[in-house]
Amino acid sequence: MAFSRNFIEELKKRNNIEEVVGRVVTLKRSGANLAGKCPFHSERTPSFYVFPATSSYYCFGCGAGGDVVTFVMQTENLDYREAVEQLAKRAGIKVEETDTPRSSAPAVKRERLWEINREAGRFFYRALLAPEGANARAYLIKRQFNSATVKMFGIGYAPGGYDSPLCAFLISKGFTPQEILTANLGRESKNGRLYDVFRNRLMFPVADVNGEIVAFSGRRLNEEDERKYINTSETPVFKKGKVLFALNLAKNSKSGSFIMCEGAPDAIAMHQAGFDNAVATLGTAITPEHARIISRYVRTVYLAYDIDKAGRNATLKGIDMLNQVGVDTKIINLGTETKDPDEFIKKFGADAFRAKLTGSTGQIDYSIDEIISRFDISVAEEKLRAAGEVTKFIASLASRPEREVYCERAAAKLGLTPESLRAEAERLAKKNTRKAGGEYAKKALDTQSGYGDTPNADKLRFSSEASHEEAILGILLVRSDLGPAAVNELDENDFATALNKKIFALFRDDFASGSELVLSKDGVLSPKEIGALEGCRASRLALGDNTEDALRAQIKALKELRSRADYDKKIENDPSGVLKEYLESLKNKVNDKKPEDQNGKGS
Ligand SMILES: [Zn+2]
Repeated sequence: MAFSRNFIEELKKRNNIEEVVGRVVTLKRSGANLAGKCPFHSERTPSFYVFPATSSYYCFGCGAGGDVVTFVMQTENLDYREAVEQLAKRAGIKVEETDTPRSSAPAVKRERLWEINREAGRFFYRALLAPEGANARAYLIKRQFNSATVKMFGIGYAPGGYDSPLCAFLISKGFTPQEILTANLGRESKNGRLYDVFRNRLMFPVADVNGEIVAFSGRRLNEEDERKYINTSETPVFKKGKVLFALNLAKNSKSGSFIMCEGAPDAIAMHQAGFDNAVATLGTAITPEHARIISRYVRTVYLAYDIDKAGRNATLKGIDMLNQVGVDTKIINLGTETKDPDEFIKKFGADAFRAKLTGSTGQIDYSIDEIISRFDISVAEEKLRAAGEVTKFIASLASRPEREVYCERAAAKLGLTPESLRAEAERLAKKNTRKAGGEYAKKALDTQSGYGDTPNADKLRFSSEASHEEAILGILLVRSDLGPAAVNELDENDFATALNKKIFALFRDDFASGSELVLSKDGVLSPKEIGALEGCRASRLALGDNTEDALRAQIKALKELRSRADYDKKIENDPSGVLKEYLESLKNKVNDKKPEDQNGKGS
């Protein structure tokens, strides 16, 4: 065992699960427990629960579950040891040294990557103020970034040339070539020399949600350079599909909404103009991960992408992603005079932009306009095709009154009567509901019967056994004091399904001593397996009957099923032998009765 039981217990006690989960998920009280929207799958209504009594969490939607350690592992992409170390640091307890070698430990520690990025940020900032940074400063003046903004965002300059001043600086600060390569600040040439990744570029440090610099976005200063932006490639501390530029600032905004921009400079310009809720993705469209992260902080997002085709596509994708997590989207229509929000603010001022926010189009109107704009509706055939596409879109809206309203609006835009759209929209809507219902039922059935990606594949073959096994494990997770009683009556061979058998064997000693289980124990169980166990626990917590009697009843039922299965197997293997045995037993029963009967007759 890598860490002692005492250490892990102390760690869990000092890291309250409500607090640890609460940093990521907005939790609301629900009876004795807390509920929120699951951070592991996209959903509109909460099916993710935290159980303070057992220091555990479980999602009824996707089956994710575990304790504080697994939660940190899953939300921050850490391995078991890293998660333990982070929680220990947070609680101010010393990590105990273990003799077990760190098998899956990364070659470069995350702390070192934060440090190296911090140093690089300082280097770029100093270079901006040095004589060599004149070009970069001129660009900032052109974009009207003031010195307070430059300081707040730590904007800097990566000097040009192939003498690689950054790499040389980092080596002088004691970083190893491996650390420089892992942080993606340097690359290795064919003859083995380190060179700087960013050359002659304006540098925007990218911070994670906690404000640690995890990457850089470098904009070209020489318009002849091929790529306008170079962003840090993914590193152990930077996953671009998960990081939003300026989220560390925007999360503190009082506005209750985010403004989503296309790149770092746009978001910075927006902050300078007083919109402290601007964020940007880095070289990607909004990902499902982004959407989930956003949904933790706000309920509304204004999409302020460029007005070109790429911007329109990004807007449509953003609407879709954000809708799936229940975040409302509004689209800012800046007209055709300027090409992006930054230009608009420069030309018309922040107040005019604020007015655009209040007058922004809802996502539905935007989508309808977008669809219609793809057709030339002055041509009858095109108009009909536009009507068809719009109707299909309206049919996807959830409520009937909503569909009515948008049928009317779309019809007016197309120059048709609302009735002409309505009947078709309703017909399609009904079809959609049926399809969705069917899919949902199938998914529920699959999960229950052990299909799909459940960790316990045997569940399909042994469904009755599995239900008793899960009840037993669930009760033991809720009531560790019943463990000794269970171990007296059960051993792992009483379990029919492989996963439950393995779990019982793994925790046998803990059951026997009646102590609390640590499911994340050394990372032996996979997150899916831990999730399955938390599912057993959550079901029993919901059911409520977790007495010793209930446990014994489940054990009895499981054993009966198992002995019946043994009997069936015997018949299968040796039908005549079993039949003979059976007849013998009947004969014995008859013989046992005989004397009684004779006695009865005789008296
Ligand atoms: Zn979930």
